[in-house]
Amino acid sequence: MPPRALITGITGQDGAYLARFLLGKGYEVHGMVRRASTGSFERLTTIQHRLHLHQADLLDQLSLVTLLKTVQPSEVYNLAAQTFVPTSFVQPMLTAEFTALGVTRVLEAIRLVDPTIRFYQASSSEMFGRVRQEPQTENTPFWPRSPYGVAKAYGHWITVNYRESYGMFAVSGILFNHESPLRGIEFVTRKVSDGVARIKFGVQEKLRMGNLDSQRDWGFAGDYVEAMWMMLSQSTPEDFVVATGVKHSVRELLEKAFARAGLNWQDHVEVDPALLRPADVNTLRGDASKAREKLGWRPRIAFDELVAMMVDADLERVRREQTIDRDD
Ligand code: NDP
Repeated sequence: MPPRALITGITGQDGAYLARFLLGKGYEVHGMVRRASTGSFERLTTIQHRLHLHQADLLDQLSLVTLLKTVQPSEVYNLAAQTFVPTSFVQPMLTAEFTALGVTRVLEAIRLVDPTIRFYQASSSEMFGRVRQEPQTENTPFWPRSPYGVAKAYGHWITVNYRESYGMFAVSGILFNHESPLRGIEFVTRKVSDGVARIKFGVQEKLRMGNLDSQRDWGFAGDYVEAMWMMLSQSTPEDFVVATGVKHSVRELLEKAFARAGLNWQDHVEVDPALLRPADVNTLRGDASKAREKLGWRPRIAFDELVAMMVDADLERVRREQTIDRDD
């Protein structure tokens, strides 16, 4: 029998990479999807026929219990969440329901249905917020600066609590930002790669940006989902930071992305104060020594290669769209 994994948030960036990775490892992969009037399976098109998709929602406890009884997985990867920091300021209650309480609902379902299921919680470097030390490790105290970060800190601690209270194999992966051509279009790296492509092809003139001084530790999503699986493959459940250990500013991201398309970012970028956040996280840089030593994990794709990959993918997409428009 192949091992069976259930991924919540399978339609998202990480879900798409993790599903491919687990299929490659011989897993039977099940995914939880929420009902919408339009499907959101674009990231899964090439593998959808190999997946088992089930309807359920983080807001609906009974749907999660039923899902676990139906699928009977040996591993659950809880990636589903309201993930966009600016939206968390506009919809803080909903963010707490999905991103914080949603974790408890999944853990409760596991506890009721089969407490031997291994559980991965997608925690975030946004929990470090106003950083207390540099670089950040598993032991750095949290100081989240957004409703998203606060909700993720709850998700982290409830995962630790179920491990300690019920002896469950529940782990929290504290992942620093990871990107790819499949990243949601509103996130800064993808907003930039998409903007560069649209400006290159004359579809858009300017790119409006918020804080250019923000610094992040950006890695490649394909590398990071491997660390999730490694965490569940250990003999004892532990939490890990996953990061490249190198940080770059949004300004550097702009420089590199525009240069990749032969453009000068200063000709095309406008800073819009309306895009600044009520409270911001200025800098994040992770120390993944523990993951390196205990999991044997290390990132393969560095920042320059990541930016090039994203810009090239968006240039190709916009070029294709332009061709289709011309042929109409
Ligand atoms: P995405 O925003 O791309 O995907 C989020 C997923 O959650 C989507 O599949 C979405 O479904 C699903 N979802 C949202 N709300 C619900 C709900 N109520 N019920 C069921 N499903 C729901 O996120 P990523 O793939 O980038 O991130 C995966 C996880 O990792 C998230 O928890 C994120 O917070 C965390 N993380 C991500 C980092 C990153 O840099 N990418 C860094 C650290 C942590 P739908 O398609 O229907 O919207």
